Amino acid sequence: MDNNWEAVIGLEVHCQLLTKSKIFSGAATAYGAAPNTQADGVTLGLPGVLPVLNAEALRLAVRFGLAVGANVAERSVFARKHYFYPDLPKGYQISQYELPIVAHGHLDIELPPPVKGDEPVVKRIGITRAHMEEDAGKSLHEAFAGATGIDLNRAGTPLLEIVSEPDIRSAAEAVAYLKKLHQLVVYIGICDGNMQEGSFRCDANVSVRRRGTEKFGTRTETKNVNSFRYVEKAIEYEIERQIEVIEGGGRIIQETRLFDPGTGTTRAMRTKEDANDYRYFPDPDLLPVVVGAAERQAIAAQMPELPEAKRARFMADYGLARYDATVLTGEFALADYYEAVVAGSQADPKLCANWVSGDLLGALNKLGRDITESPVSAAMMAGLIRRMADKTISGKIAKDVFEAMFEGQGDADHIIQARGLVQITDDSAIVAAIEQVMAANPKQLGEYRSGKDKLFGFFVGQTMKATQGKANPEALNRLLKVMLAN
Ligand code: ADP
Ligand code: MG
Repeated sequence: MDNNWEAVIGLEVHCQLLTKSKIFSGAATAYGAAPNTQADGVTLGLPGVLPVLNAEALRLAVRFGLAVGANVAERSVFARKHYFYPDLPKGYQISQYELPIVAHGHLDIELPPPVKGDEPVVKRIGITRAHMEEDAGKSLHEAFAGATGIDLNRAGTPLLEIVSEPDIRSAAEAVAYLKKLHQLVVYIGICDGNMQEGSFRCDANVSVRRRGTEKFGTRTETKNVNSFRYVEKAIEYEIERQIEVIEGGGRIIQETRLFDPGTGTTRAMRTKEDANDYRYFPDPDLLPVVVGAAERQAIAAQMPELPEAKRARFMADYGLARYDATVLTGEFALADYYEAVVAGSQADPKLCANWVSGDLLGALNKLGRDITESPVSAAMMAGLIRRMADKTISGKIAKDVFEAMFEGQGDADHIIQARGLVQITDDSAIVAAIEQVMAANPKQLGEYRSGKDKLFGFFVGQTMKATQGKANPEALNRLLKVMLAN
């Protein structure tokens, strides 16, 4: 970006709350059902039906508020937000407006340090508010020539809309914030985080101002950019576009824009509604939501360990470096897996960390799978590491055993047995192998003995080969030094 300009960004994230039923009715929320099979009277907005708040949706919203250090309102109010659209049968969306359930929280993001290798720079992003609301249905344009299909299965799914302060200053910061928020909502179990299915969606508000000035520029809001990469691209494009417009003598109009992933550009969709256009007023069908101190405490007591606390514990308890601890606590399930491996193997936690974050995650990444889909369970991984720790196999053989486990050939003991991979720790067997190698390579032996030290590695390699990689490396090194010297 042109250094005379500074971007100002605020994000609105809609995250679907992980409830079995809808926010105001008992209809199911499962994704992918046949159209309109999950649309009951409340979802359809039939006359005479009344909404009843889903207690679980409220609990999840409160849990979020507590996780971001926010105020959880003792009393919050549902309001009707009116607009006309086919996928909104009532003609209004039930949302929260003046009195949201959550306000004044924050999320700390980590940015790359100016000097490589330093600790990351921590920046605090304010969370203005988070409110509960119902999702709308879906309009289906493709399957119907000349008509639009409406699927109301999604209508009434509970959403938490999380609004950030305009504290974000670049596309990279926006992505860091989104990833951190995504990690958090999945960690605390309030959202499945599935961006393809629309469980976690982002609108990006972007404006630019001349560096050094205080006043915010006019913003645009780019809708529904549903991957981290698209958010980055959409914001970068929007920043450049706005600078160009202003420098060309034009001005930015406050409008809603749409990102086109095909071209990497945004285009105007409609001018931005004013809050007045929505004719908000408190919904007379719903009571104010009251959350007392006892309820708040009960929800706090169920809070799982948060990512930053878990990372600090991994560093303190397992002696892991910050980087490794960050990787291993990146997902709740991964952290659990790692802890099960440490407990099951009783081995050095750093060795366990190397195997989990290196070999295992590497193999999973290649297949595009996550830890919950690992063909190697934590117990199997612990079994493998135990056999390394008790010197049944060397680290090198362990790599082969791991590969075989990953391919579904059974657990480590089974593979070690079946392939006869037990490490040779018996000195006499290793001595015999070394003698054989020395006899087969008289030229190299002569050169080594007349001072070509580098050939030591050659003899290690040859002896390993002669034992099919099974020689215990320490014993091999120790014996080889003595035998080559004479
Ligand atoms: P609305 O409900 O109309 O979208 P809000 O006041 O709730 O408006 O703001 C929505 C988002 O826009 C917030 O995340 C806020 O931080 C951000 N925002 C507000 N003003 C600006 C601005 N000038 N530039 C960039 N982002 C902004
Ligand atoms: Mg908005």
